[in-house]
Amino acid sequence: MSAKITRRHFLQLSATGLGAAAIAPLAGPWTARAGERLDARIVVVGGGSGGATAAKYLKHYAPGVRVTLVEPQERYYTCYAGNWYLGGFRELESLGHGYGNLRDRHGVEIIHDRATAIDPTGKAVETRENGSLTYDRLIVAPGIEFAWDRVEGMGPEDTETIPHAWEGGRPFEILRHQLKDLEDGGTVIVCPPDEPYRCPPGPYERMALIAYYLQQEKPRSKVLGLDPKDTFSKQSLFQQGWEALYGDMIEWIPGSEGGAPERISVTDRKIFTDGGTQAHPGDVINFIPPQRAGAIAQQADLTDDSGWCPVNQKTFESDRYSDVYVIGDAAVAGAMPKSGHAANNQGKLVAATIASDLRGESLPDFPTVNTCYSLVAPDWGITVAGVYEHQEGDIVGVDGAGGLSPLDADRDQRELEAMYAPGWYESITDDIFG
Ligand code: FAD
Repeated sequence: MSAKITRRHFLQLSATGLGAAAIAPLAGPWTARAGERLDARIVVVGGGSGGATAAKYLKHYAPGVRVTLVEPQERYYTCYAGNWYLGGFRELESLGHGYGNLRDRHGVEIIHDRATAIDPTGKAVETRENGSLTYDRLIVAPGIEFAWDRVEGMGPEDTETIPHAWEGGRPFEILRHQLKDLEDGGTVIVCPPDEPYRCPPGPYERMALIAYYLQQEKPRSKVLGLDPKDTFSKQSLFQQGWEALYGDMIEWIPGSEGGAPERISVTDRKIFTDGGTQAHPGDVINFIPPQRAGAIAQQADLTDDSGWCPVNQKTFESDRYSDVYVIGDAAVAGAMPKSGHAANNQGKLVAATIASDLRGESLPDFPTVNTCYSLVAPDWGITVAGVYEHQEGDIVGVDGAGGLSPLDADRDQRELEAMYAPGWYESITDDIFG
């Protein structure tokens, strides 16, 4: 089954703008049959990267089914490219996407509301204002919630003062305003979370792009990374870029050298490490809290002790309840990272799975893919790409497919990868919301 996709082939696809849409198959034995009637209602909770994709592709693969998407926000702001906004070279509004195409072009029923409970036995979703929605199949894609019970010294009420900017839209705006108000010579502290969390390279791209902004506007300032971890995604590539572009403007302290934040003082704007003996004052503090599956997944008993949702690694059906599927950041998905691209691929896979299952046909088993572009500066891009397949109950990376940008690449290649990044963004958001 495994379609091997080499890094060269992958980058060619990305360069032509097809990367997001073309790799996961758009047609197969699960696709639409003329005149077919499938008498089923699928409810999707959460209209982000995973849920909106699943809703759209369900209507593509099985147009006869009724698909209802429950999402409180009328406009979804991507986290991806949010760091570009923090760097000062992308408008926040350009990261917002509405649901008009899903409704008008694809026939998805959109309910702007919040799911408040799930009854897997009675097969119903309770909503805040639209009563109870019964389903034949349910897809749950609520993203993450923050594990504030594991944070000492701050809670959700403090996020206007110490913003996380780890959910799209307004949280990014708060951080951007604080960066704009910073005086030259100030310190910005970025605290990445412990694994697992959404977007493993995100905090390190953020440190780079905040430094980029500061270098232009407030060059005596500094970025300090206080990290519970000792290693991180694309580490050598990031550190090479940080040093080449920003010199000693960026300092990163790993957990084993006392970097792990242990307590926060919101009023004094300080992070305490090393058993509380070291206080790090920050003029701006971006504390990214530890994470777990979105609240509705916790309430609906879809999670295990890890706080994430165990699922069948071939179908994404919940291990805990039948006919309930969990995709995106909330799910435990083997070697796949928690990313928008992964959520988008899982949305297609689960749509094909449900369409096949409703027809009583064999379930699909196609490879999935993830690419993550990070910008160290607007003209310095680095990439990690992976292709994944289902093997003996696990999701594993396909040997020899995907890979990292080479460490010894010249400046032209960094520029080229930086040019691909906006193309990836346009392609994937069109695939989800277009
Ligand atoms: P989300 O996209 O968060 O969607 C969840 C949706 O569920 C939300 O719209 C929410 O309103 C809704 N919801 C929650 N609870 C309920 C409820 N009870 N009822 C109804 N709806 C509900 N990924 C990449 O692939 N590439 C990148 O370059 C990249 N960069 C990133 C940079 C940053 C700074 C960050 C923070 C993330 C980045 N990501 C990137 C990761 C990406 O944003 C997430 O992995 C992705 O959005 C996960 O999709 P999801 O559908 O699981 O969750």
